[in-house]
Amino acid sequence: MTLSSELFSQAQKVIPGGVNSPVRAFKGVGGTPVYFDRAQGAYVWDSEGKRYIDYVGSWGPMILGHAHPAVIDAVKHSAEKGLSFGAPTEIETVMAQKVCELLPSIDMVRMVSSGTEATMSALRLARGYTGRDKIVKFEGCYHGHSDSLLVKAGSGALTLGVPSSPGVPAALAADTITLAYNDSDAVKQTFAELGEQIACIIVEPVAGNMNCIPPEPGFLQSLRDVCDHYGSVLIFDEVMTGFRVGLQGAQGLYGIKPDLTTLGKIIGGGLPVGAFGGSRKIMEYLAPLGPVYQAGTLSGCPVAMAAGLKTLELISAPDFYEELAAKTAELLAGLQAAADQAGIPFTTNQVGGMFGLFFSAEKSITRFAQVMACDVERFKRFFHGMLDRGVYLAPSAFEAGFVSAAHNERDLQATVEAAAAVFKASA
Ligand code: PMP
Repeated sequence: MTLSSELFSQAQKVIPGGVNSPVRAFKGVGGTPVYFDRAQGAYVWDSEGKRYIDYVGSWGPMILGHAHPAVIDAVKHSAEKGLSFGAPTEIETVMAQKVCELLPSIDMVRMVSSGTEATMSALRLARGYTGRDKIVKFEGCYHGHSDSLLVKAGSGALTLGVPSSPGVPAALAADTITLAYNDSDAVKQTFAELGEQIACIIVEPVAGNMNCIPPEPGFLQSLRDVCDHYGSVLIFDEVMTGFRVGLQGAQGLYGIKPDLTTLGKIIGGGLPVGAFGGSRKIMEYLAPLGPVYQAGTLSGCPVAMAAGLKTLELISAPDFYEELAAKTAELLAGLQAAADQAGIPFTTNQVGGMFGLFFSAEKSITRFAQVMACDVERFKRFFHGMLDRGVYLAPSAFEAGFVSAAHNERDLQATVEAAAAVFKASA
């Protein structure tokens, strides 16, 4: 048993900020990051042996809960045959077939090792395919940390207050046009002016990196329409929403067919995996078939494929998503009732097993500006109150939360009871 504070002070000497990804440093909420030692189902245990009900789920991948026995078995079995080969394996094709079967917009898919790689590669492909340089993204959406996409980004960039990073060449940032999420008029106007120069729109079809913001009715369709009209590529970044908001992702839920889709998180079952895929016409532009280069030493790593495939198999069970959404709705209804009772201005958003908590008096949160106007200080107190009571939420007011299939009725009730106590204490 080692104190998290001790582990953190050792880490800070040899790792920048003590962490390998900024949001983990608790800058968004203050205090010392909790060091995890192990996890099972809906729970994580810290280095001091304390148990938490986990609503982060490794930032999304753990839709089945942590260390699902069937996933661990698949990983063990694959690992015993060798960790990676840098050569083709049969399981990569099985994975590709499964992705193409689940997501009808995808005819061909390429595996990579992270969400960042997936979006960066999709962007290059869209630029190479169209012969255009400009891209459109939305403020508060996060698509990983590649140069073109780290402009007015969400997630850790928002948490740390540096939505655009030094080190991104100005010339590259100049080709990234950033618009307001859910503002179809701004999209139409921008395309009317610059449409012929725009390679692609990249969008989180449900925004999950500025807390959780669903698309307003008609928004995604308006993106499809302008891309069709101007010959631009529509990229849905479903790294978070893919296999989270439904088995067909957000594209299935809202009935919009993107040209390219990026995937990550769940598709790797918790191991480092990303993917990008789409129409045959565009994907055939990729090396070695076409001129757009993209590659990866560990791409399609068989152990990661085994974890991902087993996860995809288990979440394909009948009623899986209905049950996940029902649990999430129950949790949010409980939290809302507790906040209302304590007189705390509070509202929530939900899409399937993905949710957002907002300390705001507004009843409907659909815009980035509204998220930024939420009471962050109150969130920080709520976060720490919940942490003390054994509930682990994302350590930032700008991240979505996730429920897993492993969360049971008792977990949900315990979470609501903890929240009621925290709300009462802070009212
Ligand atoms: N796109 C989206 C929508 C994401 O949520 C994330 C990560 N949270 C990424 C891309 C980047 O993925 P990774 O962290 O695996 O590079």
